[in-house]
Amino acid sequence: MKWLNPDDSTDGVEVRKGGGARRVGKIGGLGAIVVVVISLILGKNPMEMLGFVNNAIPDQTQTQTTGTVTNVGANNDSTLTVRVYNSCNTVWNGILRDKFGKSYSRPRLVMFEGSVQTACGGASSASGPFYCPGDRMVYIDLGFFQELSQRFNAPGQLAKAYVIAHEMGHHIQNLLGMTDQVDAARGRLSEAAYNKLSVKLELQADFYAGLWAHYAEQEQIIQLEQGDIESALGAAGAVGDDRLQREATGTTNPDSFTHGTSAQRIYWFKKGYTSGDFSQGDTFNDPSLN
Ligand SMILES: [Zn+2]
Repeated sequence: MKWLNPDDSTDGVEVRKGGGARRVGKIGGLGAIVVVVISLILGKNPMEMLGFVNNAIPDQTQTQTTGTVTNVGANNDSTLTVRVYNSCNTVWNGILRDKFGKSYSRPRLVMFEGSVQTACGGASSASGPFYCPGDRMVYIDLGFFQELSQRFNAPGQLAKAYVIAHEMGHHIQNLLGMTDQVDAARGRLSEAAYNKLSVKLELQADFYAGLWAHYAEQEQIIQLEQGDIESALGAAGAVGDDRLQREATGTTNPDSFTHGTSAQRIYWFKKGYTSGDFSQGDTFNDPSLN
């Protein structure tokens, strides 16, 4: 994957390492507090985090300590993360304007190592990357990229970009109201039925990640090379619930799936990438998912 037209600006970006926080962009921690307060005033529940994989375990016991701050650009993964974040903002700004006549508001991006506090509760690196609808922030654990290439055997730039674009996809779902609808159903559904709804939300985020790759390539922000799509599909397949469960326990329980099988995650990412058609990503009304 080559960057033809990278945007390295850090507006809306912050880095937290070892639990400490420092602003590198224009918006920082105070903004987050304001968002939480506003969401509480409006009676909105700062909802549970939407993770990339099914092992997101909020860890409330970790305390934040002041840590070393890494500047954006200091390592390749943070540069890549900022570039994908910026290009997602560009692509989705265009899709929302053209499709819905809607103005786009970007999420904030937090790159963290160790533990992090969010409106959705505390999280550690074990949570993996996630999006918190309550504070509209995308949290990217930079350590996960190493896990992606080693534990999940999915190396490659586009594999990493897929993870970030998936979380940005959850932000789009939040802007368009899908997240609220799924959250509202939580109380009145059985756990198995709710999990099914969660799978649809997650697969749609995979579709949106594919859609980002399509437009980023079309708009000549990135240039994809031989093996890139395979690398992203490898990542999508590696984080399917069936594969993760089988690896962890030797067996699978489809009722407990919240993100979709490997085959489904590959299918929806690929569909977004090849179609480039927003309207084909309605996982909620797809017969194969009912
Ligand atoms: Zn997700």
